[in-house]
Amino acid sequence: MAFLEISHLEKSFGANRVVKDFNLDVDKGEFISLLGPSGCGKTTVLRMVAGFENPSSGAIRIGGTDLVGKRPNQRNIGMVFQAYALFPNLTVAENVGFGLKIKGAPRAEIDRRVAEMLALIGLPDLGGRYPFQLSGGQQQRVALARALAPKPQVLLLDEPLSALDAKVRVSLRNEIRAIQRELGITTIFVTHDQEEALSISDRIVVMNGGIADQVGTPFEIYNRPSTRFVAHFVGQLNVFSTDGAGNLAGVQLGAGRDFAARPEALHLGRAPGTDIVLPARISEVHFLGSVIRLTADAAGARVSLDTFNRPDVPPPAIGTDVELSLSSRDLIPL
Ligand code: ADP
Ligand code: MG
Repeated sequence: MAFLEISHLEKSFGANRVVKDFNLDVDKGEFISLLGPSGCGKTTVLRMVAGFENPSSGAIRIGGTDLVGKRPNQRNIGMVFQAYALFPNLTVAENVGFGLKIKGAPRAEIDRRVAEMLALIGLPDLGGRYPFQLSGGQQQRVALARALAPKPQVLLLDEPLSALDAKVRVSLRNEIRAIQRELGITTIFVTHDQEEALSISDRIVVMNGGIADQVGTPFEIYNRPSTRFVAHFVGQLNVFSTDGAGNLAGVQLGAGRDFAARPEALHLGRAPGTDIVLPARISEVHFLGSVIRLTADAAGARVSLDTFNRPDVPPPAIGTDVELSLSSRDLIPL
């Protein structure tokens, strides 16, 4: 039995079915991301787990006990929201201690736990400040500390990084993951950012129109997308159509469907182990540092490919005629 079990969860707002037969088993200590475009139902799933929204049907169990019907404060779940939802009139320490105070914990215990949480988030000296005196990243750390202080069984994070600028976003996501590992807390993290989900999750649930399209590790989701939607939503894709006989550049792939290659599956020149060779013309060159992303026109498609930078090999110039190669084993059937 999984620690957290969500089964046949449904939610409709009037005639609008926004969560459809959503199923997910989460192991204790796992870090799960819900990934999908805006409006696909991520927040609604999270709000049902937290108890802010009642499911139309289905069950949400922690340790075998169904939570449906229990109020949020009876659930022992911590939640961090997208916008900084700190109480503006309370200090950082009062914000972090809020949940314990509501539960009637003794003053000394609250103080001890607040100090412990502020140390955990790397802000040991800021307990006396007010939220407006903190940066956005610091405010989200305090929100995390506030959610964790009452020792919840499950931590829910709803796009906690989306209001932050790029650099803070990356450092804070790594910090959240480190804290999550340290505490071993079962976590569901909502994001619409595929790179974010790929980089920090044990497993990802890709959502599409209220449905969990695929559940898998980042490696599985990226390399073996099980639906067209997942293939397109996660990572970049070069789509090739076969001819009427199902061939691409003379190699039999299968008729009646398209095939896709990730940018790193295409090689400049004839690489060892490849069986498909496509004449191409370079149309764009983006020097990204360790990687050079090339755009080329090949087999009637505009494709992207990544080559590693090598200081002794300058990238091809725009307009150059080249050959691209790939292995049919690396193609993703669509
Ligand atoms: P996401 O978090 O993936 O962007 P949401 O779960 O917020 O998506 O919303 C999913 C769908 O449910 C959207 O179409 C949204 O408009 C609708 N929705 C969410 N909350 C409500 C509500 N309280 N009343 C009516 N419709 C809602
Ligand atoms: Mg949302």
